[in-house]
Amino acid sequence: MWIYLNDRFVSEKEAKISVFDYGFLYGDGLFETLRAYNGRIFALTQHLNRLSEAAERLRLPLPPRLSLEQSLHETLHRNGLKNAILRLTITRGENPIALRPDLCKKGTQVITARPFSGHPAPFYENGVSATIVSIPRHSPDGKTPSIKSLNFLNNILGKLEINAEEHFEALFLDAAGHLSEGALSNLFWVKNGVLHTPSAQTAILEGITRHIVLDLANKEGLAVEEGLYPPEVLFSTEEAFLTNTGIELMPLTRVDGKTIGSGQPGPITQKLHEAFRMRVVQETGEE
Ligand code: PLP
Repeated sequence: MWIYLNDRFVSEKEAKISVFDYGFLYGDGLFETLRAYNGRIFALTQHLNRLSEAAERLRLPLPPRLSLEQSLHETLHRNGLKNAILRLTITRGENPIALRPDLCKKGTQVITARPFSGHPAPFYENGVSATIVSIPRHSPDGKTPSIKSLNFLNNILGKLEINAEEHFEALFLDAAGHLSEGALSNLFWVKNGVLHTPSAQTAILEGITRHIVLDLANKEGLAVEEGLYPPEVLFSTEEAFLTNTGIELMPLTRVDGKTIGSGQPGPITQKLHEAFRMRVVQETGEE
C-alpha cells in the first residue's frame, strides 16, 4: 500500500510520524473517511466542507482544498484502486512542549486507501443487530460532536461494551437519555410511515450519508421528523437502519435482542437505499 504522508508517497514501512505529534499525544487532529466507487470519490465536496468547518473551529491549518483533492485522488490511483475506502488524517503536527499548540508549525497529513466494495450481501438481506450501551454519547473534544476529531475514546468505549462478533453496532443515548447515534453510524427508523432520526442536539456527528438520506427522503416525498426520542420508540417501529460512508444504508433488524418491525429489512429502507445507489451512479458513473 502506498501511503501519502506530508507531500510524498511512502511504503507502509516508511510511513512514520513523530512521537511528539499532537495527534498522537493529545488526539489533536481531524479525519474523514471517504468512499470511492469506479475510481471517483463520492461526496468529496461534502466531506471536505465538514473537514474545513471543523478545522476552523479547532484553528487547525489545512492544506489548500485543491491540493487535498489532488492528494486523495492520487492516493487512490497510486494504489491502483477503483472501489475503496480512503482515510484522510490531519493533525496539528509536532512540538515537544506540553500543550503549546501555538508552537506546532506544520501539520501532519496522512492518506490511506484500501480496497472496499461493500459489506457482505447477507448483512443487507437479513439486517444487522445493535445494542444500546450504558456510556452516554458525549463530545470528548469539549466542542461539538460535529467535529470528526481524533478523540474517539467515547466511541471506542461504546464498542468495547458490546460483543462485536454478535452485534454490528453500539447505539448511544445522549446524556439526557435520548436516542443519539451509533459508534460509527447515524440511526434512522420508520414509524407510521414517517422517517425519524435523532436531531443534531443529541450529540451526533452529522454524517454525510445522513444528510444525503434526508435529502433523498424529501425528494421521494417521505415525511421526515428530526427530534428527541426515548429508546423505547425503537421497539414499536416498522423498520430501522444505520447509515455511514462505508455501509451506505444498513437495515437494523434487532436491538438489544428484540426484533425491530417484521425482523426483515423494510420497504422504505430498501427504497431509500435504491435511491442512494442511484445517487452514487449519477455521481461516480458506477454500474
Ligand atoms: N456518527 C459517527 C460517530 C461516525 O463516526 C460516523 C462515521 O464514521 C457517522 C456517524 C457517519 O458519518 P458519515 O455518513 O459521514 O460516514
